[in-house]
Amino acid sequence: MTQRLQGLMQDDFALTLNHIRRRMRSCSPEAKVVTLAQPDVVERATFTEVSERIDRLARALRGLGVEQGDRIGTFAWNNQRHFELYFAVPCVGAVLHTLNIRLFEEQLTYIVNHAEDRVIFVDASLVPVLEKLAPSFDSVAQYVVMGDGGAGSLPNALNYEDLLDQAGPGEFDYPELDERQAAALCYTSGTTGNPKGVLYSHRSISLHSTATLIRDGLGLCREDSVLAVVPMFHANAWGLPHGAAMAGADLILPDRFLAAEPLAGLIEAERPTLMGCVPTIFADLLRYADEHPDVDLSSLSNATCGGSAVPRQLMKDFEERHDVRIFQAWGMTETSPVATFSRPQEGEHGDTYWNDRAKQGRPLPWVELRLIDDGGGEVAWDGESTGEIEVRGPWIASGYFRELDGGEQFDAGWLRTGDIAAVDEKGFVRITDRAKDVIKSGGEWISSVELENELMSHPDVVEAAVIAKPDERWSERPLCCVVLREQADTNAEDLVEHLRGRVAKWWLPDEFAFVSEIPKTSVGKFDKKVLRGRLADGALEGRVQLS
Ligand code: ADP
Repeated sequence: MTQRLQGLMQDDFALTLNHIRRRMRSCSPEAKVVTLAQPDVVERATFTEVSERIDRLARALRGLGVEQGDRIGTFAWNNQRHFELYFAVPCVGAVLHTLNIRLFEEQLTYIVNHAEDRVIFVDASLVPVLEKLAPSFDSVAQYVVMGDGGAGSLPNALNYEDLLDQAGPGEFDYPELDERQAAALCYTSGTTGNPKGVLYSHRSISLHSTATLIRDGLGLCREDSVLAVVPMFHANAWGLPHGAAMAGADLILPDRFLAAEPLAGLIEAERPTLMGCVPTIFADLLRYADEHPDVDLSSLSNATCGGSAVPRQLMKDFEERHDVRIFQAWGMTETSPVATFSRPQEGEHGDTYWNDRAKQGRPLPWVELRLIDDGGGEVAWDGESTGEIEVRGPWIASGYFRELDGGEQFDAGWLRTGDIAAVDEKGFVRITDRAKDVIKSGGEWISSVELENELMSHPDVVEAAVIAKPDERWSERPLCCVVLREQADTNAEDLVEHLRGRVAKWWLPDEFAFVSEIPKTSVGKFDKKVLRGRLADGALEGRVQLS
């Protein structure tokens, strides 16, 4: 009988956030966290200064009676204090629960009570929102207000800076942690039913942070300056704060100033190399940059976009007109979130190159991916055949917090993502739709993502979201909801002409609704659920029926 031979490495060295915390101080003392505190006020702190405050905060948490495993809520924008909580809370063994400030009131009440948050740290600017909800929270014993402003009617409220002052200086004696213990909790927005809690471990965050440094992924390194626009309450801001801390890169945080103008100002002033945000914010920024040709955004040589499909034209326009390079990532809250990244081989920027850039990319190392068809069989990676993406790996969720019956999303060690895609022979994933957005016409699928992508390549189209409209003959047909540039006189026929030759003939839509805005979800994605609701209520106005 053969016997296994054990390796002789330090396999019990725990992968915890304490390593990243120590590394900030020891390897990158001069790196900075920069916060846009007011439109004209920028606050800066070195990693050394931030680390000292993390120590104070850890001590303060102990003083508040926070124990290992306790859930500590944050209700905050992207700023330095939120970053301090990102480390102090998990490093004392508690769990950082980032509350999505844009959820509906009932959902916020649900997740705070479901998580049993003990303490909530809230930005002063958000106190008015939280005040209204506080009476509905069952478990919160303490509020801590961050920044300038009062606590309003929040009961048992302390001030963050007072807490740190009282905690006093000096290194904190952090407890030994198990790498598998929970570090952070983030609820998915819950398109159906109640939000579901994704519970990240120290190990999953540590490994995902390491993967943000891979050159074929986000490629974060010490020379970078990272502008994290994606909210810190959404899937750990895609791992950018942890990644910057690990790499020793500067981290720039825009707080609540997310409109194109202050963002452009921040980019000009701070010259970030990397920025992460959803396509809608990049699209706003592009419009702003086009209207203000003096604005220089060219420091962004390695921007990351994801959260929904990134229109090819958006990437091309940014690159050709403003020297900004955007790469696409795909993932979800359940995947920590980055699972694939599209960084095609450099070379001539021809059609193949741009087609690959418009895809969602290859799985990162440690992420395994397969496509499953309706019958449960595996779909070949031929670039054409589609199926639902399933993934597995060390930073992929295996279940939801306190939902013993994780249900149909978990399939014997694989996570079912609900995204439909094709994968080509090189391993490049191309998402064609979310399962629930697919348009089934005459027994065949029409990709809403592809139609949107092509519509948004028309110079007069600002936004386009395509939904299925029930149809007697075909069962469903695409209805294109389109936002046109101001004063544009493009009509439905023009758009059909634009699509002709770019998509299959039977995909050509026969109905358009010209709207002033596409409704967005709490994290800035097109909200097709709202559009479908409006369609069902007969409230989708401005319909044009082509003959
Ligand atoms: P929500 O379900 O609230 O949108 P997530 O933020 O976790 O929550 O969203 C994950 C989903 O976003 C994915 O399942 C996918 O449908 C979509 N998505 C994310 N990145 C991309 C991308 N690059 N291209 C297409 N879809 C994307």
